Amino acid sequence: MELLRRRIIEDGDCLPGGVLKVDSFINHQMDAMLMKELAAELIRRFEGVEFNKIVTIEASGIAPAIMVGYLLELPVLFIKKSVPVSMNSVYVSSVYSFTKKTEYQLCVSKEFLREGDKVLFIDDFLAHGNAASAMIDLATQAKAEVAGMGFLIEKAFQEGREAIKRRYDVKIESLAIIESLENCNIIFK
Ligand code: 5GP
Repeated sequence: MELLRRRIIEDGDCLPGGVLKVDSFINHQMDAMLMKELAAELIRRFEGVEFNKIVTIEASGIAPAIMVGYLLELPVLFIKKSVPVSMNSVYVSSVYSFTKKTEYQLCVSKEFLREGDKVLFIDDFLAHGNAASAMIDLATQAKAEVAGMGFLIEKAFQEGREAIKRRYDVKIESLAIIESLENCNIIFK
């Protein structure tokens, strides 16, 4: 998507180790109008795919997910990154964080992810696919179906798409696909 590619070139920054910093419009300060355009494009790409709920992971997936949910008038469920003491009936899955270099647990209440749910998963980044794979694991535990996975930015060189496809047959869409961040040059696919 040209709009997002242009914004990444103008305002994105590259950190060592293949990390793209988009703090000025996605991950810290947010451009709500851009987010609305991105959500509309994700909706267009998943036209014809049936789902009843939007699912994301806190915190940075919430903004695009809620825009998609708002435009489609669907509930938005965000998976938590720790197991709250107040929640005792939950599905849990472990995930390794690429940016934080630690393992943490993803957790979702059995009340909100249910058998028969067909979910559209939305997140800001697809990198190695660990978070997305853990989300698929949670959906499998709940006997829910992941009908599609939509990302704002995919770092193709970290091969998350292949990692997901090896485990689960699902339509994956990314609005900007980065082929390389070598020497901090942002090269799009
Ligand atoms: P994965 O599990 O696919 O390796 O990584 C997905 C998660 O890690 C995303 O939800 C995002 O929060 C974070 N992430 C991975 N790579 C980047 C990056 O280059 N920049 C930023 N800002 N976040 C990233």
